[in-house]
Amino acid sequence: MIHDVAVLGGGIAGAAAALRLAQGGARPLWIAAPRGNAFKPGEHLSAAAIPLLKTLGSDAMLRAQVHRHAHGTYSAWGSNLLVARNAIVQLEGPPTVLDRGAFEDALTAQAIAAGATRFEEDVTGVTVVDGCWHLDVAGQAVKAGFVFDATGRKAVVAGQYAARFQADKLACQYAVFACENGEAPRPVTLIEAEERGWWYMSLLADNRAVVNFYTDADLPGFKNAALETQARVPEAIGAYLRDYGFAMQSVPRRITTNSSWVAPAIGAGWVAIGDAAAAFDPLSSHGMTTALWTAIQASDAYLAQDRGAMQAYSDSVAKGVQEYLEARHAVYARERRWVKSRFWARRVALAGHPQDAEPSPV
Ligand SMILES: Cc1cc2nc3c(=O)[nH]c(=O)nc-3n(C[C@H](O)[C@H](O)[C@H](O)COP(=O)(O)OP(=O)(O)OC[C@H]3O[C@@H](n4cnc5c(N)ncnc54)[C@H](O)[C@@H]3O)c2cc1C
Repeated sequence: MIHDVAVLGGGIAGAAAALRLAQGGARPLWIAAPRGNAFKPGEHLSAAAIPLLKTLGSDAMLRAQVHRHAHGTYSAWGSNLLVARNAIVQLEGPPTVLDRGAFEDALTAQAIAAGATRFEEDVTGVTVVDGCWHLDVAGQAVKAGFVFDATGRKAVVAGQYAARFQADKLACQYAVFACENGEAPRPVTLIEAEERGWWYMSLLADNRAVVNFYTDADLPGFKNAALETQARVPEAIGAYLRDYGFAMQSVPRRITTNSSWVAPAIGAGWVAIGDAAAAFDPLSSHGMTTALWTAIQASDAYLAQDRGAMQAYSDSVAKGVQEYLEARHAVYARERRWVKSRFWARRVALAGHPQDAEPSPV
């Protein structure tokens, strides 16, 4: 049996594509291992995602009690003064702080209810024979005429069939903290730059806090496991954690957060969506919105069986990468206190255009 279309990957991009394709009558085979219980970082959903969720008929899921509005973001960036970026002045509205697992589960349930067939395994090999995809899944050869690559930064299809570019070496070390003094912590997000990189702390919807430290993967600050020595946590974040009696609950984990993308984002019989197409610096807070947007655009182009629409999708991804790189350059350029440190010196020289980026070694 040859499936018309297979979606690979069980994150937000994969779930949204499986849902959109099923809503359009395409009966997708969705190949995605179960999520598991591990904490997945990335909880700030931009208000720009709401129209996309409405398109999918999924916006009501944001009203679930497990999520909450983000009310205040404060950053010490360019000076040691904490500056408020209050939700009231964000024109598109306040972001939502998601219970990420609950959100992904709700999208998954909706995709299956709409008619997507889920195969709960990873794809371990991909080949094309006479224009048909042969996917190795749990020892079976699954065949499909068209493939959506939603496998995140692994990009198991796009990484083989298109060039992947990488614009920096940013990586993150993160840990979850639990509040032990019983007091309800003030819901805030704090961003603090320091000599070796920058920190991010956000109160999660369940009143735990996630603390992320970002620097380049090849710099000593990353290898020194900064989060393990809580003394290194910067001033404002440190004071917040101390005041509310937060203690580290999880072993710090490391994850790649570089800016990388494929060009083009489409090929013969495949399309890349979400992080598999373009993965951004978490400072932009737009990864999940991009996952939803690319899933909808690519699904609609597939459903229309319109090559021009598919090309327009790929062109939009390339344009989005260009705009993103320019915006990233402008944001990092605002921090000038440590231009001699290797992390910030690299930011001064950041690639502002896709053609300045290096081919990805991955
Ligand atoms: C530290 C950090 C903080 C972030 N903060 C934010 C934030 O605040 N706001 C925001 O909008 N974004 C944030 N992001 C980005 C956001 O999490 C991603 O952009 C988003 O998860 C992309 O969704 P995706 O579905 O494309 O990829 P993923 O979520 O990575 O999902 C890919 C899926 O593919 C599966 N997969 C991989 N290989 C295979 C295979 N061979 N076969 C089958 N399945 C496979 C994986 O298991 C996974 O389930 C953050 C990211 C990080 C790392």
